Formats: sequence, structure tokens, C-alpha cells
Amino acid sequence: MFRVRNYKLAMAGANVEFIRSPNIGGVLDPRFLVIHYTASGPGFDTARYFARPEAKVSAHLVIRRDGTVIQCVPFDTVGWHAGVSQWTDRTGRFFTGLNRYAIGIEIENWGPLRRTGSGWISWSDQPVEGSKVIEARHKFGRPDCGWETFTEAQVQATIEAARAICDAYGITEIVGHDDIAPGRKSDPGPAWNMASFKAKVFGRSEDGPATYMVRSPTGLNLRVGPGIDQPLRRPDPLPDGTRVIVHEARDRWRLVSVLNAAGDPDFSGWVHGGFLVES
Ligand SMILES: [Zn+2]
Repeated sequence: MFRVRNYKLAMAGANVEFIRSPNIGGVLDPRFLVIHYTASGPGFDTARYFARPEAKVSAHLVIRRDGTVIQCVPFDTVGWHAGVSQWTDRTGRFFTGLNRYAIGIEIENWGPLRRTGSGWISWSDQPVEGSKVIEARHKFGRPDCGWETFTEAQVQATIEAARAICDAYGITEIVGHDDIAPGRKSDPGPAWNMASFKAKVFGRSEDGPATYMVRSPTGLNLRVGPGIDQPLRRPDPLPDGTRVIVHEARDRWRLVSVLNAAGDPDFSGWVHGGFLVES
């Protein structure tokens, strides 16, 4: 289990390996988590590459194929991973230049692969073992091709790191680089099971945040901020029995994500904590 301490990822009281990248901006306002692949092979050390000024790129975390997590940028600092990008969050707010608002995780993986007579090769003509390849179409219509699968160790490490980050910063939206730069970027691509990943990060397991239930016969108002004077986020109150997860507390107010029937976070806002019971 990871925790965030002083803008660094730590496990059992010790920070994960930190290889500082000079490719950074100012203060980060963390609202989103962006998932990437590196488009690189097992012989390439992404974290060391991010440490070179001429690379002009970075990410907060790198997840190696063996599941090792390396941090390159502290979580309070802008990294250079999103580039030209835009996203409308679930409250309808429009963001551009996502580097200022997003923590980036780069997962080491080749990305798309081409078929040859004898098997699969990367963009750099390196052979990739067939047992590590799936054939799929990218959701934005890129033609069918091969994609390197992510290792089980990578999936598990990314879930655990994302949980700690989302918990620490109240992040409720995880996106792929392809979501915020459609057409320009293909990562993490169809080999990354984003739906399953998000479900595991957002509390469908005992390690996730606690689930609460609205206990109020007349329903509970969801507001834009913590206070009775804050505008309503939704015209109708949340019905009695609505399930939520709590991200943040301010006095008696709680920032919650409202769960849909499938148990996934649907939308978020502030509610009075006096009407929540543990479920
Ligand atoms: Zn990317």
C-alpha cells in the first residue's frame, strides 16, 4: 500500500526511488490523473531519460515492466506529459493545457505493433513476443494493429499508486492521454483496461475509500462548495439511500463522489456530513 507524504509516493515509511526530472513547470493544481504508455522497449530507462534536460518531457511516475515505481516529479509540481490537451470535467468545466491540472503516470510499454512474416515488431523494428501482444482497434478508429500487453505487476502497481494519489488529492477523474489529445495521441490504448482500472482505484475493493449512504427522508442537497450558502450542483437533492465516497472534509461538510448503479463515481460535490452513514 502506497501513501503520499510531502508530495512523494511512499511505502512502509520509505519513499519510492526518486530520479529528479528538470523538465517541470510551476505549482500543480491536481484535478486529474492521466495514464500514458512510453512507447519504449525493455532496454530503455524512461526515468533516466526524463532526467535529461534535452528530453523536454517528464511525468510524475514511471511504472516499469517489473512493477517498480519511480517518481520523477513531486506531486505539487507541473510535469511535462500532456502537451496540447483539453478536457471537460464532469461538472462541465472546460480545461486546456492539462499539465497544470494533472498528475501523469507513464507505464513502460511499446504501444502499437506491426505484424511481420514471423511475428510482431515495434515502431523501431524491435521484435515483440507474440504471447505479449493483443490485436485490437483503438477506440478513436486507428486501424487494427498489435498492442503490447501490460504486465500484471504494472497493472497492480498502477492501481495502488493511483489509489494513494486520488485519495490524497481528492481526484475523481482518471483519463487516458488519448482522451485529452484525441487523434494526436493513442496512449494508453486498447491493451489498457481503463474501466476495470478505474473501478479498482475508486473503491470497489476493501482497500479503497469507505462508502457512505445518504440518510435523509427528504434527500440531501449537493452543493458546489462547503456551506449552506453555496449554489446547488444539481437541482434535485440526492435521494435517501444514495451511495457516495468521501474525498475530503471541511468542518461538517464532505466532498463526495456520487456512485452510479454500477458502483462507479458519477458526479461530485459537497454535502452536509450529518446526513451520511457508513454503509
Ligand atoms: Zn502520453
